[in-house]
Amino acid sequence: MGEVKENIAAVKKMIADACNEAGRNQDDVTLVAVSKTKPNEMIMEAYDAGVRDFGENYVQELVEKMNTLPKDIRWHMIGHLQRNKVKYIVGKVALIHAVDSVKLACEIDKEAAKLGIVQDILLEVNMGREETKFGIFEEDALSVVAEISKLSNVRIRGLMTSAPYVVDPEENREIFHKIMRLAVDIKNENVDNVYMEVMSMGMSQDFVAAVKEGSTMVRVGSLIFGKRNYTK
Ligand SMILES: *Cc1c(COP(=O)(O)O)cnc(C)c1O
Repeated sequence: MGEVKENIAAVKKMIADACNEAGRNQDDVTLVAVSKTKPNEMIMEAYDAGVRDFGENYVQELVEKMNTLPKDIRWHMIGHLQRNKVKYIVGKVALIHAVDSVKLACEIDKEAAKLGIVQDILLEVNMGREETKFGIFEEDALSVVAEISKLSNVRIRGLMTSAPYVVDPEENREIFHKIMRLAVDIKNENVDNVYMEVMSMGMSQDFVAAVKEGSTMVRVGSLIFGKRNYTK
């Protein structure tokens, strides 16, 4: 094999080039390797290449991997999260990316309070207003942030979005630009407990465009681990 290692080097190079072009520091961009449906052996190849941030979408799969793989991995729950599954991951994952309602945040807060911890989360924004996607709309963001900020066991670290599938990734730059502006608007409200330091945006198809617009966390799966097979 060894392919994973080469793919990671290539992705890192693309991040570095995009940072150069945008006048950004590449250390400000975290690569989250999205390992959903992929076996532990492949995750370990990425681990051996130095990756410590891994993203998963399904709670059961995440918990199984977490229990068997090295303890210094930072796990990211990037998929849509159901409220009844919150208890299995709170306190165990570094970051929950796709918080898309006050209700979900309340559930995370409740479970985090039981453990006496503060759980870091991101607010998922549906910038492309796609019907098939989760996430709050831009115009609701300030009020949702205000509600969630009252919860003392969750901390909003920033925003997350998944842009539409496009043929030319440059088309998504406008969406990434808009969510960066939204983050500035939120920051300007100076709400306690709310930070806008993490911008989780950009996947295999469009992470270069996202980095050019200011992404601090890219979620790259297929470009590292190859296409996913969901039929297995
Ligand atoms: C699967 C997934 C990714 C990775 O997608 P690729 O196109 O394989 O890079 C990123 N973000 C989310 C939310 C995902 O579900």
